[in-house]
Amino acid sequence: EVKHGRRGAFAFYSPDMTTRAQFVLHVERRLQRALDRGGLVLHYQPIVNLASGAVEGIEALVRLADGAEPALGPAAFIPVAETCGLIAPIGAWVAREACRQQVAWQREGIRLTVSVNVSAAQFRRADFAAQIRDLVVSSGIDPHCLVIELTETAIMENLAEAVAILHALKALGVRIALDDFGTGYSSLSSLSTLPPDKLKIDQCFVRGIETDHASRAVIDAVIALAGSLDLELVAEGIENESALHYLRERGCHLGQGYHFSRPLPAPQLLAWHARHRTSARPENGKRCAG
Ligand code: C2E
Ligand code: MG
Ligand code: MG
Ligand code: MG
Repeated sequence: EVKHGRRGAFAFYSPDMTTRAQFVLHVERRLQRALDRGGLVLHYQPIVNLASGAVEGIEALVRLADGAEPALGPAAFIPVAETCGLIAPIGAWVAREACRQQVAWQREGIRLTVSVNVSAAQFRRADFAAQIRDLVVSSGIDPHCLVIELTETAIMENLAEAVAILHALKALGVRIALDDFGTGYSSLSSLSTLPPDKLKIDQCFVRGIETDHASRAVIDAVIALAGSLDLELVAEGIENESALHYLRERGCHLGQGYHFSRPLPAPQLLAWHARHRTSARPENGKRCAG
């Protein structure tokens, strides 16, 4: 809480802000160290075709693996990275590592589309599309196998600029997903101006399937919307059979969640994939699905 008053600068800092400032400093130091010494790691969560069970792709999710306490997830450290200027190097590392891994797996005959989360602060940089172009060239990834996940909020901050960047990305052949769909603002108006390839319906709606009529109504509406705009639709946060059943019956094609697998380190993801593919319908090995 910012206090205005005669007591001077000290009055600006409530106890909460001091704690927050200390936390930010602590995280900033850990992130800087992780960047310098290799303490970041990617985990991968499969994205599954709900009808056939086939794995259509994977989402790369960054972890701070520095062994320090407390353990922090990206929901805690990405916002800090955004405010202290470290999101650019972290984002660059994530994209590079995800592409490197995709190409390595592809060389072993495992063709998986990889989705990478990009935050607003990263996306807004003037050279973002150029960075991705350079990455596609240097990594050798088939651009159709790379998906950039953005939130509506990231895009709506500067719609005109965002549309230009998205067109540049799409010209490369890279695909665009709108993440956490339904939780931002201007969802529907943005869809008329933007060219996304897929929507990811936010997990809060999926979590409400069993108990909340409004959540089901939102899901039904988004399924209809994706269908009529010819967009792929991924449901996030599928944790149980009943959510899976509902989404499949309603015609949602893709999903991810703990019901299938948690995000896993690369070797475990590969093992999961090998076990999983024997129980799923044979995949189309030619094209990069998802
Ligand atoms: P997101 O992109 O919407 O990713 C989905 C989050 O939901 C992940 O959390 C994933 O582990 C979690 N999740 C997946 N299935 C389930 C489920 O069935 N139940 C529940 N309860 N959760 C599930 P995570 O890995 O902690 O990431 C949180 C957020 O941090 C991500 O949300 C994304 O916005 C951000 N993030 C993660 N990695 C990166 C990154 O490399 N760069 C940027 N800029 N942001 C990232
Ligand atoms: Mg995501
Ligand atoms: Mg999401
Ligand atoms: Mg999210």
